[in-house]
Amino acid sequence: MQTQTAINTFIEETGSWVASQLEACTRCGMCAEACHFYQATGDPEFAPVWKIELLKRAYEQRFTLTGKLKLALGVDKPIHDEDVLHWSKIIYEACTLCNKCSMVCPMGISLGPLIHDVRTGISKAGAVPADLMAAVNKQMEEGSPLGVTDDVYNDRMEWVADEWEVELPMDQRGADTLVVFSSIEIMKFPENIAAIAKILHKAGEKWTLSRKGREVVNFGFYEGSPERTKIIMGRVFDAAKELGVKKIVVTECGHAYDALRWTAANMMDVPAGIEVTHIVALLGEYVKTGRIKLKQGAYNDGAITFHDACKIQRRGGHIQEPRDILHILAPDSFKEMTPNREESICCGGGGGVIAIKEADPIRYAAFELKIDQIKKAGAKTVAMSCSNCRLQFVDCVQHFNLDVKVAGLSQMVADALEE
Ligand code: SF4
Ligand code: SF4
Repeated sequence: MQTQTAINTFIEETGSWVASQLEACTRCGMCAEACHFYQATGDPEFAPVWKIELLKRAYEQRFTLTGKLKLALGVDKPIHDEDVLHWSKIIYEACTLCNKCSMVCPMGISLGPLIHDVRTGISKAGAVPADLMAAVNKQMEEGSPLGVTDDVYNDRMEWVADEWEVELPMDQRGADTLVVFSSIEIMKFPENIAAIAKILHKAGEKWTLSRKGREVVNFGFYEGSPERTKIIMGRVFDAAKELGVKKIVVTECGHAYDALRWTAANMMDVPAGIEVTHIVALLGEYVKTGRIKLKQGAYNDGAITFHDACKIQRRGGHIQEPRDILHILAPDSFKEMTPNREESICCGGGGGVIAIKEADPIRYAAFELKIDQIKKAGAKTVAMSCSNCRLQFVDCVQHFNLDVKVAGLSQMVADALEE
C-alpha cells in the first residue's frame, strides 16, 4: 500500500475550494443525523464529518500552522498505513455517496464530493476493498462488473427479444436515442429491458442499443478513480458519437446517471450536442405529452409507495415524474414514505456498498430504517426507478422475510400501457 500516494493525492486535491470547505466546518455534528449509517448504528465514526477527517488531517498538517504545531507537539500523528486502511472501511462500506449530509450542513459543506475525494486518495494508495476492486477490474477487462462480455450481451439480448417478444434494435446508425442498460438489469432484471423496449416502441422513439456502449454502470466512479471513471464513460460516449444519436438514455441506474450527466463534463471532453437523460424523465415526458397512455388505476394491489433514489431524485431532480405516473396507476392507494423526495433516506446499497460482502451487516442495519418507513406508510409494494436500489430492496426483503413487493417503475408503466 502506498500511503504517501494517498497523502499526496489529498494535497493535490486541496485547492482553494476544498480548503475553504474544510475550514468552514464548525463541528456542529448536524450532518451525523442525516446519515443513514450513523442513524442505524450510532457509531460516531460513521458521521459524515469524520469520514473526511483524513483529508482534513493531510490539509492541516501540510498547510496550516495549527496542524504543523499539533504534529510537532505530538497532539496529532502523521497519517499511517493503518489510518488509510481504517478509512477505507469507513468510506467504502459505510457511505453510499448519497449526499444527504451535504443538504443539512448549515455551512454549506459538500460532504458527498469530499468523501468522494477521500475515495480517490485511498484508491491511489491501492487500499480499495477487495470485492469492489475485483468488480472494477472485471469492468475494465471485460466491459462489465457482472461479466456482461460481448457474447453474454448478445445472448441475453437475443433471449430477452424472444422471451418477451420485443424488438431490440442494435447498433442502428441514424437512431435518435441510444439506450444503455446496467448489468444489474441485464443479468438480474431482464424483464426491465423488455418493459423499456415496449414503452419506447409505443412512444414511437427512434432508438438503438449498442454493443460497444453496452454497460452504463461505472465501478471506476464508485472506486473514486478519475482515470477509470473516464475510460468507462468514454465507451458510452464513443458509441453515441459513432451512431450519431442526439440523446443517451440511462436506464434504471442512479450512479451512472450522475457520472454521465454531471461528472463527465468536469472530467473530460463530452461530445457536443448529445443530451444525457434518465428513463424516468423520458417516461414522465411521454405521459405528459400523450405519447403513451396509461390505464387509470391499473395498479390495484394494496397501498404502494415510492422510494426516491439519491442520484435520480435528490441529485437529478426527477421527483415529480414518478409521482405523476403513480397518481395515474394508483390514484387511491399511493402513499408517501416519510421523509421523501429530496429528503429521502438512501436504501443503503448504493455507492458500491452492495458489492462489498464485508459491508453486509451495516447495509442491512441501514435498511431497517427503510423498513420502518415502509411500515408507517402501510405499503405492500415499493416502486423505484433505480435497479441498484431494487437489488438492495430485493435482497433485504428476502433477508428480513418481509411481506413487501418490489417493483421497477418502468415495468409498472409497461404493464399499464393502453393498447
Ligand atoms: S454539519 Fe457541516 S459544519 Fe456541522 S459538523 Fe457536519 S460538516 Fe461540519
Ligand atoms: S453521503 Fe450519504 S452515506 Fe455518505 S456520509 Fe453522507 S449521508 Fe452518509
